[in-house]
Amino acid sequence: MKIRTLITGGGLAGLSCARRLNEASSPYLLVEREKETGGLCRTIETHGFAFDYTGHFLHFQKDEIKKWVLSLAKGQFKERKRRAVIYSQGAYSEYPYQENNAGLSSETVRGNVLGYLEAALNRRFRKVDPANAENFKKWCLQAFGPGISKNFMYPYNQKLWKVSLENLTTHWMGRFVPSPRISEVVAGALTKKPSLSGYNATFLYPDKGGISILPKAIAQGLPNLWNGVGLKQLFLNKKKALLDNGLEVDFEFLVSSLPLPKLAGLVPDLPAFLKKAAKKLRATSIYNINFGFRGKQPIPFSWVYFPEPEFLFHRAGSASACVPSVAPRGHFSLYVEFSYNGAKPDPKILGRHAMEKLKKLGWIKSERDLVTRVDLNLPGAYVVYDGERDEIVGNLLAYFEKRGVYAAGRYGRWEYGSMESAIEQGIQASAKIPKK
Ligand SMILES: Cc1cc2nc3c(=O)[nH]c(=O)nc-3n(C[C@H](O)[C@H](O)[C@H](O)COP(=O)(O)OP(=O)(O)OC[C@H]3O[C@@H](n4cnc5c(N)ncnc54)[C@H](O)[C@@H]3O)c2cc1C
Repeated sequence: MKIRTLITGGGLAGLSCARRLNEASSPYLLVEREKETGGLCRTIETHGFAFDYTGHFLHFQKDEIKKWVLSLAKGQFKERKRRAVIYSQGAYSEYPYQENNAGLSSETVRGNVLGYLEAALNRRFRKVDPANAENFKKWCLQAFGPGISKNFMYPYNQKLWKVSLENLTTHWMGRFVPSPRISEVVAGALTKKPSLSGYNATFLYPDKGGISILPKAIAQGLPNLWNGVGLKQLFLNKKKALLDNGLEVDFEFLVSSLPLPKLAGLVPDLPAFLKKAAKKLRATSIYNINFGFRGKQPIPFSWVYFPEPEFLFHRAGSASACVPSVAPRGHFSLYVEFSYNGAKPDPKILGRHAMEKLKKLGWIKSERDLVTRVDLNLPGAYVVYDGERDEIVGNLLAYFEKRGVYAAGRYGRWEYGSMESAIEQGIQASAKIPKK
């Protein structure tokens, strides 16, 4: 068959591209390997609970994207307040750690704040500029000082990324790591109050249906979405795609939201140096366990960061704490996230560990109150920004783009992106398809 634009992957990026092309009456076909579209923004509904592929909270930086999405989702998203904290030294302190030390031991507060002040003085008077730091580890030290680095930034990020922090660049951080002012650090050490700093202090979320409402709203009424059909091979010189149902598709343009190294692996005529480079791209995976319990909502936290090694998970939280309707009346939900590299860890061991720690934290009383458990594996969830990533990604994207293949989305462009950026990149890719 022949089609002007083939879109591979039906997550937010692919769907947004399809929607825009449809609005422009530009012919397309979208193929999604899974039985349903949505990608990472799907929701499992069972026993009256709605579980996302770990916490997925919608926030916007760009008004035009927000307007477009909300016009499609018509009244389904409501504004919610984040309540994020850090658990360390047996106490909860407000997020972000670097700005909220009140509640920690006086020795820790002293070390953290004095270290921060010293780092701030170095920045001002010795012209130490964290923007020039060689790696993430040095950046932490120059931005926050030794106390905050040792007590939170190093152990938390080490647990999440599972790679040496000296091998990480700072190019992924952007708004994801807030840098408070001196006055905010000092005030946060003296007074404990829920913090509203950071990009995600408030977010949008529907009452019903979980985050899957978002891709469903974008996909609604769209023709030419094929589920359960994946891209198998791509012959770029012939502009031909082989699908895993055996069909061959001749295309003029291709928009790919497949993970970039995976796309590279499907192209037999890709130059050997690019093939070899693509194999070096790395990502850290997440194993997410969701629990539905009977009983009263035990914690007010949307999510909690766990820097200490006693906890094998780096983050845990409760979607029902901020959106009670994701659990049936008289019930609550919890989620726990473990990161891993390489082989998938044993779910039994992780589940046992999670239960033991949730009990110790006082979030649950007894395992007998468990109603349901949903395990979700997210292979390659967090792109690792090591020293080689930027150049390899730049070369691959340029090679593809020259041949009419436009990459979009968190994995398509191999980056640390949000739902909004996946949508935006899908829209941008659609704009690259020339009008006939
Ligand atoms: C742990 C975690 C938490 C997150 N939390 C948030 C949050 O709170 N807020 C936020 O804004 N963002 C969050 N994000 C980011 C957000 O999920 C992504 O930016 C967004 O969902 C990416 O959409 P996408 O379309 O780019 O990719 P995906 O959703 O991965 O879609 C790609 C699609 O391609 C399909 N595919 C793969 N191979 C093939 C093939 N061969 N043929 C056809 N199809 C194929 C896949 O099945 C998938 O459906 C989070 C991400 C993670 C990992």
